[in-house]
Amino acid sequence: MLCPECSSTHEPGQPLSGVLEVELKGTLSSQDPMDFLPVERQFFPTIPVGNTPLWHPGNLLEKYAFPELYLKDDGVNPTGSLKDRASFLVAAFARRHGLGEVVVASTGNAGSSMAGVGAAAGLKVKLFLPKTAPPAKMIQALQYGADVVLAEKNYDQAFSLSLEYSQTRGGMNRNTAYNPMTIEGKKTVSLELFNQLKKSPDHVFVGVGDGVILSGIYKGFRDLLQLGRLAKIPVVHAIQASGSSAIYRALESGVFDGRSAKTVADSISVDVPSNGRLALKNLKAYNGRCVTVTDEEILSAQKELSSACGLFSEPAAAAAYAGFLKQKPILDSSETCVVLLTGNGLKDINSAANNIVIPEKTINSLDEIFYNGIA
Ligand SMILES: *Cc1c(COP(=O)(O)O)cnc(C)c1O
Repeated sequence: MLCPECSSTHEPGQPLSGVLEVELKGTLSSQDPMDFLPVERQFFPTIPVGNTPLWHPGNLLEKYAFPELYLKDDGVNPTGSLKDRASFLVAAFARRHGLGEVVVASTGNAGSSMAGVGAAAGLKVKLFLPKTAPPAKMIQALQYGADVVLAEKNYDQAFSLSLEYSQTRGGMNRNTAYNPMTIEGKKTVSLELFNQLKKSPDHVFVGVGDGVILSGIYKGFRDLLQLGRLAKIPVVHAIQASGSSAIYRALESGVFDGRSAKTVADSISVDVPSNGRLALKNLKAYNGRCVTVTDEEILSAQKELSSACGLFSEPAAAAAYAGFLKQKPILDSSETCVVLLTGNGLKDINSAANNIVIPEKTINSLDEIFYNGIA
């Protein structure tokens, strides 16, 4: 599902060439994000994706004196991540075209998402995961009934194996970027945000791995711009882990070097970002920024969101908040900033366990805590 001509120039170890985007044609009077999608409603699966809450987190606004800071919690989607927006449209597209099987490679969330949304849509799901995927994400996918295959090496390997599988055995491939419905589905987050704020934000922060959510965010704002409802595209801050920063490095050097990724934020751990080319193009065209944050900064941001707001998000999501904290000094504190929290913290409790102290001692009587061992 790439442009046949452009993708013929693809070289191994490089981002996909010829990633396709859907174009909005004509005019539209509706405000409903679901009316911006290129598949008729009758094919939508009956699973409530999107419409996620926008938080205005009192404690953080005060602490940092940013009165217009918002958190959009996409971790409350049915399978716990923003990936449901893409899976929803992919499932609708498959039903529209009478396709019964979807094949997908994933670091974890896209797979568990496709498995869950696919279950609601009555589709078979074949999922390729790296063997290092967080157990919760794999168990989730198996619960939904997906057929799971583990790749020995990493996500990049799972990605190529899944493409080979769908090309030889059939089934629609949902791989991120490879399937244009992934970018298109993810755009609903911007459309929703615009309706919730009743205006465009000035800044949006998002954790970036393959760069598909990033392109989805831009696509949503571009649709609104095209319809004349938006004056300008917000500044999007693409936040990468310092151990998985292919897009950040390519912005500096112009090349994707294929360096091995390693970060606590598994959902944004990617050697070669499949949507890297479009990500660079969008960032350059709309004055986007790309910033890296360390694993320590990610875990500390995760902890702060949990303990100051009651919002427990997974590391890749918290990375976006770490990015906001890092960029804060160069922002105007009166501007509207939205941090996109893309996945739920319960998806990867092992990473979250790094930054807390789990009690070891058990007690039998309250005396043991009241007197704390002192006679
Ligand atoms: C997939 C994912 C991302 C990154 O999205 P890309 O399109 O790969 O850049 C960020 N956070 C979470 C929780 C994700 O699942």
